[in-house]
Amino acid sequence: MRLTGQCPLCLGPTRHQPLCCHCRRHIRAHAQPPDTLDTSIPLGVRVFSLGPFAGALRRIVLAVKHGRDQRLNDWCGQQLAIQSRHLMRPDALTYIPSQRLSRLRRGGDTAAGLAIAIGRGRGIAVVPTLQPPWRIHSRTRHHGQRQAAKGFRYQPQPLGRLWLVDDLMASGHSLRQAHDQLSAEGHIIEAWLVIARA
Ligand SMILES: [Zn+2]
Repeated sequence: MRLTGQCPLCLGPTRHQPLCCHCRRHIRAHAQPPDTLDTSIPLGVRVFSLGPFAGALRRIVLAVKHGRDQRLNDWCGQQLAIQSRHLMRPDALTYIPSQRLSRLRRGGDTAAGLAIAIGRGRGIAVVPTLQPPWRIHSRTRHHGQRQAAKGFRYQPQPLGRLWLVDDLMASGHSLRQAHDQLSAEGHIIEAWLVIARA
């Protein structure tokens, strides 16, 4: 572990933590309460985020998305674990998968890493339930037969109460699509957890 380092947001010194104390305080102060009024969110689903996709949080999401800072991703997961502490733990956490190419480029799946950090904070298992829509298995690959790039591919898991994790809620389209697909399979999605909301 780095004992001293540079805060990726303000470039000031930081000790033991991925962010300096000023930036940590700033982000915690701007954390948004769970929102159940937004009509783009399914009824009854609670959305947890550290704040709007602007300023410091925008820089964090971009750094995390480009795989530049795993510790920052872990820290965001810890904060989301704290923020969601009053909501009863689900059976498992699941996440929106990155597209295959960006996952290879980053050397990891951002939302999966975030889910693992949240799970660690609250003692919740992480299960992969979705795969990117356009990943084609070599067994079923034929010329001229490309899988339609619509919806995720479902990876069966025991049915249960799930929380859905992604790094950014922009239009909310991917989350909604994943939510609807998992609900159709019989899962109950109780919350969406993201670093920031656009
Ligand atoms: Zn800072």
